[in-house]
Order: sequence, then structure tokens, then C-alpha cells
Amino acid sequence: MASVIAIRRVRAATVLLFVLAVPAVLGAAVLALKLAGTYLPALLLGAVWMLSFAVSATTLALLKCPQCGQRFIRFNWFFPRVCARCGFRC
Ligand SMILES: [Zn+2]
Repeated sequence: MASVIAIRRVRAATVLLFVLAVPAVLGAAVLALKLAGTYLPALLLGAVWMLSFAVSATTLALLKCPQCGQRFIRFNWFFPRVCARCGFRC
């Protein structure tokens, strides 16, 4: 079972990776184009970013509720604050 702090940390990391994906990769692309004349560093950053988001979202999906021991989220929910099974809030 995951602790409340672990659930909050993984959820915050997943939300940040989701929200900042486009601005970060776009900013890196503009910067890379100005400095190096190529988009390749931004493409690599985008690939690493997507992989990080996939790992974070999968970790969030597999976390167990500290109260009931079942998975904390259902797959059709995005970033929930309440357990899908028992209603535990964290
Ligand atoms: Zn629960």
C-alpha cells in the first residue's frame, strides 16, 4: 500500500509532466533552433518527457489505497483526490 504522501507526490509529478509538456518542449525547440540550428535536442527532450510521463502515470495507476488496499484510481479517471473504491481522500 502506498502512503498518502507517495500518492500526492506521484499525482503532482504526473500533473506537472502533463501540463508542462508542450511549453517545455516547445521552448526547448525554439532555444535549440536558435543556438544549434537543429531541433534534435528538443526531440530528445520530448522523447524523455513522454517516457517520464508514461512511467509516472503508470505508477499512479498502480498505487494502492492506504485504507482499502485496492488500486487508488480507475483508468478512466484523471488525477483523482478520492479513492475510487472506498472514498478515502488524500
Ligand atoms: Zn480505498
